[in-house]
Amino acid sequence: MSKQFDVIVIGGGPGGYIAAIRAAQLGKNVACVDEWKNSAGGPALGGTCTNTGCIPSKALLQSSEHFDHASHHFADHGIAVKGLSMDSAKMVARKDAVVKQNNDGILYLFKKNKVSFFHGRASFVKAVEGAALTGAAQGYEIKVAGAAEETLLAQQVIVATGSTARALPGAPFDETQVLSNEGALALTAVPKKLGLIGSGVIGLEMGSVWRRLGAEVTILEGLPTFLGAVDEQIAKEAHKAFVKQGLKIELGVTVGEVKVAKKGVSVAWTNAKGEAQKLDVDKLIVSIGRVPNTTGLNAQAVGLQLDERGAIVVDGDCRTNLPGVWAVGDVVRGPMLAHKAEEEGVAVAERIAGQHGHVNFNTIPWVIYTSPEIAWVGRTEQQLKADGVAYKAGTFPFLANGRARALGDTTGMVKMLADASTDEILGVHIVGPMASELIAECVVAMEFRASSEDIARICHAHPTLSESTREAALAVDKRTLNF
Ligand code: FAD
Repeated sequence: MSKQFDVIVIGGGPGGYIAAIRAAQLGKNVACVDEWKNSAGGPALGGTCTNTGCIPSKALLQSSEHFDHASHHFADHGIAVKGLSMDSAKMVARKDAVVKQNNDGILYLFKKNKVSFFHGRASFVKAVEGAALTGAAQGYEIKVAGAAEETLLAQQVIVATGSTARALPGAPFDETQVLSNEGALALTAVPKKLGLIGSGVIGLEMGSVWRRLGAEVTILEGLPTFLGAVDEQIAKEAHKAFVKQGLKIELGVTVGEVKVAKKGVSVAWTNAKGEAQKLDVDKLIVSIGRVPNTTGLNAQAVGLQLDERGAIVVDGDCRTNLPGVWAVGDVVRGPMLAHKAEEEGVAVAERIAGQHGHVNFNTIPWVIYTSPEIAWVGRTEQQLKADGVAYKAGTFPFLANGRARALGDTTGMVKMLADASTDEILGVHIVGPMASELIAECVVAMEFRASSEDIARICHAHPTLSESTREAALAVDKRTLNF
């Protein structure tokens, strides 16, 4: 016996669960299917973000930062700590508890919003039309393979099946020694030597966690520049800080054979000068990007179009080639970020309900939660030059900010870029304490198409880190007050 809904959402990550809730808020009868299992085999809603991505990584970053502070910075405040030790198994257990709170929170939200949840793998069976569907001319039949098998029908389907880690050719993930994000977030002991392939967001965050806890961390990066997508000045400042902390970062590397033995991993690599090198480590984390996940969706049964990377092909509004089928989040083009997935989920639910959902790709913020944090929105100085845009730049160092001095964290700066003739803010780039929170003001400003003078004229509380954003805005007009 099939069950009919207005909307079926496949995937319960940030793209899918948010789409399901928004569609239900708009009066739709919604089902969401997700296959993620917790260690007991039960549902674990929230996708990569909640289970093996954003949330667990931030939990471990927080614990390891506390340890780092107690080890190196408490003494500056007159606090002496004797016999400091780290119980990494407990740290991981705390991380698991934080994940579970989030999993359960989404289940609760589904109940509150009357979203029907099905635990299992969803796949397309066929397109249906006419008598098979009540109240709609055409729709889709979806099979759910879980503890029990279910057949669902709906006129509208939102695919939000996310992404999976890309493996290094010849070195598949065993999650014991060669680790993806899943294994990296489940380590229960500090490896003496840790290798990382890839110095992207995930690599830097994972490298920071285990470096702070005492691992000797080496990052091998194929690109010749560090954090190529980040504003150059900001990336240089961050690189300086990471190297000072003890992260070894090798750029322009070609990775060769990876040999996995019982007790460690050996990586053959060539440096930027073409010299052969070898890295012997206890564990190797590979973070060289992620691939869209359409495994098990049976896309071919309905002719759902995928591109050469396996991503679902969508237009600017997340419509696929099939009427009534939409796709959002990591499984489609665009940045692989949880908040981008959420925005697309909301916009699609609103379009299904006849509203005009909208995602502004120009104001999606990016954050790297290392210490110092890196955050930005809009275009970099390199991009503005490449686009031939005349701009003015203003920077303000945290060294000159009273709150940063009181915190004991004066690394980095705020950099604001504004149009040379209209003064509209075109980009803001931050490296330093709480950059992840500071960027929100800049996103709001850009969304409202503010000028740098608007920010310069707004009263910011003293003493706060946010005064640095105002000072960077003043610097655009060469009139900083505190530097
Ligand atoms: P996902 O979160 O991957 O969810 C997809 C869900 O669909 C999964 O639960 C999967 O099991 C389910 N599924 C797949 N196929 C089927 C099927 N056929 N049937 C049923 N269910 C199915 N982003 C940020 O914005 N900030 C961060 O700090 C951040 N940190 C990260 C840290 C790490 C280590 C990693 C790996 C990623 C991080 N990301 C971060 C990226 C973020 O996790 C993703 O962009 C986000 O999870 C994408 O959401 P999604 O809904 O598209 O897919």
